Amino acid sequence: MAKRALVTGITGQDGAYLAQLLLSEGYEVHGVIRRSSHRGVEDHRLRWLGVAEMVLPHDGDIADISSLLRIVREVQPDEIYNLAAQSFVASSWRQPLLTTNVTAVGVTNMLEAMRLGAPNARFYQASSAEMYGLIQQPLQNEKTPFYPRSPYAVAKLYGHWMTVNYRESFGLHASSGILFNHESPLRSVEFVTRKVTDGVARIKLGLAGDLRLGNIDAKRDWGHAKDYVRAMWLMLQQETPDDYVIASGVTTTVRDMCRIAFEHVGLDMEKYVVIDPAFYRPAEVEVLLGDSSKARKTLGWEPRIPLDALIKEMVDADLERVVRHSSESAVSRLKSVTANWQDRGVAAEPEQSRQCA
Ligand code: NDP
Ligand code: GDP
Repeated sequence: MAKRALVTGITGQDGAYLAQLLLSEGYEVHGVIRRSSHRGVEDHRLRWLGVAEMVLPHDGDIADISSLLRIVREVQPDEIYNLAAQSFVASSWRQPLLTTNVTAVGVTNMLEAMRLGAPNARFYQASSAEMYGLIQQPLQNEKTPFYPRSPYAVAKLYGHWMTVNYRESFGLHASSGILFNHESPLRSVEFVTRKVTDGVARIKLGLAGDLRLGNIDAKRDWGHAKDYVRAMWLMLQQETPDDYVIASGVTTTVRDMCRIAFEHVGLDMEKYVVIDPAFYRPAEVEVLLGDSSKARKTLGWEPRIPLDALIKEMVDADLERVVRHSSESAVSRLKSVTANWQDRGVAAEPEQSRQCA
């Protein structure tokens, strides 16, 4: 019989790649999807990867334990991947309580639902390198002390320790992956890599004149989401639950990451990047650099896609997306102009239509 996986946050970047991986491994994949008034767009990442039709959706919210308990009892999963979160650091200062309810308390909701409804399942918690914050060691591993620097990081730290605590208190198979930044063409556009690749595409196509960024001296250890979801899955294939750092082991400034993106389309970043204090944070994580030797040794995991290949893939995807989107909006602008003319009894001539578009 196929193994059953339940994924919260399945509509996000990692959820989509993880669903794709689990399906390719023969799993029956169930996802918790929160209701949106924008029906039909919530699964856009799953559609981009061509797996939306294969995922079994369940209406629920990580902040609502009753929905989680109902879903866990119905699905009886073998594995639970808890990826749901308010995941954007900058928003966590603007919405600290929501971040706490979702990113922190949501973890206990999911752990409780599993403990009560499917105690033999295996549990993965999406912990974050942001927990290291003001770093206490130049190279961070599983033993490095934490020093969170944002409401997001504080919330993640709570979720991390609850996962450890439920493992130790109730003997649950609960593992925590301390993942360093990982990106892809499916990253939300507010994160710096995607903001840069989307901005570069717009500048290249003549749709934008500059790219406004904050602290471009910050350094991150970046990898590809496709590589990192494989590590999540590997953790749950181990007999013994544990915590693992997942990282590339290379740290790069935002400035250098940006340079890769601009150079890929033959542009000089110095001409376009504008430093805007609006994008500085109340407290910054200046540098992150992970040591994933435990995962490499125990899980046999290693990253396959280096940063420059990742950024080039993202720029190419954004160029394609921006072209497609602008021609779609040109067509819809054209349609509305034509409709206006028709309302006024004016025939739309091909020449005029082209100009308006
Ligand atoms: P995304 O922001 O792309 O995805 C977050 C997911 O959580 C979305 O599916 C979102 O649903 C869902 N979600 C948000 N709030 C709720 C809620 N109240 N109830 C149910 N679902 C909810 O994040 P990523 O895929 O990048 O990250 C996955 C996880 O890994 C997150 O927990 C993140 O914090 C963590 N992480 C990510 C890292 C990274 O570099 N990407 C690094 C370390 C940790 P919706 O689509 O409806 O908004
Ligand atoms: P984070 O590591 O989870 O906060 O991921 P982000 O991609 O949001 O930010 C990575 C780093 O880029 C942080 O140090 C930010 O301060 C820095 N950064 C610089 N300019 C920007 C910007 O315009 N947007 C974002 N999101 N980050 C920026």
